[in-house]
Amino acid sequence: MPNRSEIPALFSSCLAKNNILTSTETLRPYECDGYTAYKSLPLAVLLPESTQQVIDIIKICQKENIPIVTRGAGTGLSGGAHPISNGILLNLSKLNQILEINHQLQYAHVGPGVRNLAISEAASEFGLYYAPDPSSQIACTIGGNIAENSGGVHCLKYGLTIHNLLEVTFVTIDGELITIGSGCYENPGYDLLALLTGSEGMLAVMVEAKVKLLPKPLHKEVILAAFNHVEEAGSAVANIIASGVIPAGLEMMDNAVINATENFCHAGYPTDAAAILLCELDGYDDSLQWEIDQVSKQCKQSNAVTVQKAQNADEQELFWKGRKSAFPAIGQLSPDYLCMDGTIPRKHLAHVLGEISNYSKQIGLAVANVFHAGDGNLHPLIMYDANNSGELEKAEEIGGKILELCVSVGGTITGEHGVGIEKLNQMCVQFKREELNQFERIKEAFDPTHLLNPGKVIPTLQRCAEFGAMHVHRGEMPFKDLPRF
Ligand SMILES: Cc1cc2nc3c(=O)[nH]c(=O)nc-3n(C[C@H](O)[C@H](O)[C@H](O)COP(=O)(O)OP(=O)(O)OC[C@H]3O[C@@H](n4cnc5c(N)ncnc54)[C@H](O)[C@@H]3O)c2cc1C
Repeated sequence: MPNRSEIPALFSSCLAKNNILTSTETLRPYECDGYTAYKSLPLAVLLPESTQQVIDIIKICQKENIPIVTRGAGTGLSGGAHPISNGILLNLSKLNQILEINHQLQYAHVGPGVRNLAISEAASEFGLYYAPDPSSQIACTIGGNIAENSGGVHCLKYGLTIHNLLEVTFVTIDGELITIGSGCYENPGYDLLALLTGSEGMLAVMVEAKVKLLPKPLHKEVILAAFNHVEEAGSAVANIIASGVIPAGLEMMDNAVINATENFCHAGYPTDAAAILLCELDGYDDSLQWEIDQVSKQCKQSNAVTVQKAQNADEQELFWKGRKSAFPAIGQLSPDYLCMDGTIPRKHLAHVLGEISNYSKQIGLAVANVFHAGDGNLHPLIMYDANNSGELEKAEEIGGKILELCVSVGGTITGEHGVGIEKLNQMCVQFKREELNQFERIKEAFDPTHLLNPGKVIPTLQRCAEFGAMHVHRGEMPFKDLPRF
């Protein structure tokens, strides 16, 4: 395996000198992604400007046995794009061309480095938009969105990335270029599009995508309901969905987040509320009024103290600005935080939020909650100070307990942020040995030499055994000993 000083010469046949970064100061910005608890420098950062360059880089890496971590914008929150010290970071941010907006067939054909929001901006002149909208949409790339199967506020009604994806072109570890999917509703053969979606850079490098565009809704309304108890807001969520309304978005914030965001961007939230719900409804005028009435009724029946409708488009935007600023706003309260991402059946919201509060008190770190309540997708933000010895460990302990609680009530350890390096231990809790083995076989079929994002997502059985998860004590240990974090 080459050392850092040999990298420029190795890739000089396919990349310009300024697209090969190897000095410490140029590597430093890439030492982590949005999961900032752990940091390391890659061997080099490579910045291809074409699909052919991606192919050439991968072929060289395969020949020289160099691990590859693919990176979009590096906003991932589970360490999926965390660099490996003996591997290159393949940064696709320069593959940011919008290749086609087809307004008749309603799709966008884009490079992997195109920002999520840029797709809707480009489609806007045709009255179209791209529905999945992670709060990071101003920065995150469509390649990262596909690799994480990202969600967002509007995914409750319009689906996750996978539901809005038509076609993906990817490069295999052998340097082959393959296109999967089509514009049709049904494709013959295995559904590789679904397999690649959420694969976290472990199976292939995606270099193009065709995504669905939707007509912008004719009308929309945003309702803000305030509650004196978090549990009441939780039960309002369950009741709204049970009433037959599918909101375009249904988000919850607790008091800590309300106050942090109010300080940060003055969204007009009631700072004395224990929790607020933001509910967006969209569609035709007639059906919209029925939905507004239903949502108001359900909130009031769950003891909402106020239920208000945004007065105009500016106020709607302001309400959402608060929600979308929630993560950065927490930075005012704490120098560091872990953003967890578990999913639970909605009926358990009140119970799980109560338990999270108990863990916070028992272990002694504050936890704020902001989340896609309609999806049952929780984002507890566990606040800590990395400079205080032992606090990161405490934060991880709370995070682990929350994810295990999600599994115990029939949920999952991730709703949209992926597994990365953050949730390797909890994969042992979520899955049985046989299931992890099956993941490993899929990995082997795509990437037998384990060069693509090694050490991420699939835990070794040895790791599971050390962690003490119940599923791992039977059978042999067939996994290769991958790099550990
Ligand atoms: C403030 C904030 C808010 C967020 N809100 C949301 C939210 O509402 N919903 C949500 O789902 N997520 C959210 N996220 C998480 C994150 O933005 C998403 O996971 C996003 O999809 C990551 O995109 P990225 O371009 O930054 O990818 P990166 O972080 O660069 O990479 C993420 C993963 O994808 C892989 N990858 C990237 N590009 C490719 C490619 N072309 N081919 C193969 N693999 C690739 C990487 O190897 C890595 O495993 C948020 C993050 C932040 C910081």
